[in-house]
Amino acid sequence: MFSSRSTASDDVKLWLPRHKCRICGVEVEFAQVKVHYQTTHPEYAKWGRQLHTLMWLVLGSDVALIIVDALYLRSLSPILNEYIVPAYLGGTCFLLIGLHLRKLIAFRDAWDKTHHLLPNEKPTEES
Ligand SMILES: [Zn+2]
Repeated sequence: MFSSRSTASDDVKLWLPRHKCRICGVEVEFAQVKVHYQTTHPEYAKWGRQLHTLMWLVLGSDVALIIVDALYLRSLSPILNEYIVPAYLGGTCFLLIGLHLRKLIAFRDAWDKTHHLLPNEKPTEES
């Protein structure tokens, strides 16, 4: 028989997709991603919740604009329909993505400064 000490659950864990932490670079099981961010990077987790709320607000405003555009703005001017509404929708998406990337870089820089190691760096042996 097999003398391996790995159990069936260990074998399953090997096949599960893993997530690389965006801040410290540690690989985490997908089921543990939320726990990792909440315990290791609580400020980032808090920012994620704020971003989630902001995304729903922006999505709501986008949907409202689309409805108002379909019902009313189209009849006013074709410029509104062709340029301003798509620009608003694209601009809000671009703004959210940019805001998130900026915060992510700030959190990663702060992590690197406090831990003095880049995600791909491993401590070198000096002897
Ligand atoms: Zn991490």
